[in-house]
Amino acid sequence: MKKFDVEITEYLQKTVSVEADSEADAVAKVEEDYNKEKIVLDSSDFIDKDIEIYNPDKFISKLDLLMQRIDKFNKDRDWDQFHSPVNLAKSISIEANELLECYQWNDNANLEDVKEELADVMNYCLQMSMVLGLDPIDIMNKKMDKTEKKYPIDKSKGTSKKYNKL
Ligand SMILES: [Mg+2]
Repeated sequence: MKKFDVEITEYLQKTVSVEADSEADAVAKVEEDYNKEKIVLDSSDFIDKDIEIYNPDKFISKLDLLMQRIDKFNKDRDWDQFHSPVNLAKSISIEANELLECYQWNDNANLEDVKEELADVMNYCLQMSMVLGLDPIDIMNKKMDKTEKKYPIDKSKGTSKKYNKL
């Protein structure tokens, strides 16, 4: 058996060392491990941060990368100390109002301003999820499960009535 370095290039820049009888066997082995999700990846392995994510168990998602980036931003500045759940809840509300302010005197707000304020709201929502140890996708899906039950299509289609008035 010899040692081979095999490059994985699908969205990645990662080299894996394996022992095999031939280079072809080494490539096949790495391919199999990769497809079976046995190769552990982290964000630094990705060439492009704007990758499309097809399998959340196999790839680190764009959302994971973004959350890591936000976390690093805060750690580098020693700002975690300010991010209690209550402070983050306040920040979400403040940013939501800044978003609303974009429309204060004009229904056609400047899209660039809206993008920035919307990003601020979502950024703080993600930070609060992290502080509380919650998976944002998970809690949103669970809430969607509830909302779908509260608003069955046959009763709620085309109406803005609240669920208790349907
Ligand atoms: Mg803002």
